Amino acid sequence: MPHAKTRIGLLGGTFDPPHLGHLAAARAAQQQLGLDEVRLVVANDPWQKSDSREISAAGTRLKMTQELVKNMSGLVADDCEILRGGKTFTADTVEEMHAKFPNSQIFLIVGADTAARIHTWNRPEIVLALSTLVVVNRGSSTVNLPEIPHARVEHVHMEPVNISSSELRDKVRSGVSIAEFTNNAISQVIVDEHLYTVAS
Ligand code: ATP
Ligand code: MG
Repeated sequence: MPHAKTRIGLLGGTFDPPHLGHLAAARAAQQQLGLDEVRLVVANDPWQKSDSREISAAGTRLKMTQELVKNMSGLVADDCEILRGGKTFTADTVEEMHAKFPNSQIFLIVGADTAARIHTWNRPEIVLALSTLVVVNRGSSTVNLPEIPHARVEHVHMEPVNISSSELRDKVRSGVSIAEFTNNAISQVIVDEHLYTVAS
């Protein structure tokens, strides 16, 4: 039976670059929770990272994310954080989605590493009030979330994919192929735009 409300998944990230771990996490959540769509939301300025390393241009990360979800039913790349500009706060995004899709239920999909840091976000109470938190294992690591009052939490298990964007950037820098961890179109953007060639 169809769910009364549209069920929208949000998978936020830097996507620098997008990889098959992101895709597998989105698909696992989509299938196990019966989500109508999963939006891969590309951070404009991931403020917890941007002080410590060079982040690729937002437009380039969006283009690569569009390539990741191309021809994948129910998965879309979302540019709302880029259009909003400035530092990216997931609380703003969840509020915006809530206003834009009032008749929907929002599922915020996070890997275990990200879930463990949610208390460090800007206004986590808003995020948790307006969405159901979906925690996906990251590789073999799972997380025991601290008790968060009023949070709605779902756990999704995926076949572990042991890869991160950091590792892919390191591989590109070292001249090692990343073909098995992402798709050809993304590899091509990385080559064409000379991404990850200098240490940062
Ligand atoms: P970086 O190494 O630069 O931090 P990343 O691979 O962690 O990159 P992000 O863009 O930071 O990618 O991740 C976005 C979201 O996807 C986060 O919630 C993260 O936990 C999740 N995620 C990333 N890779 C995986 C993976 N291999 N398995 C499960 N979840 C993942
Ligand atoms: Mg990360």
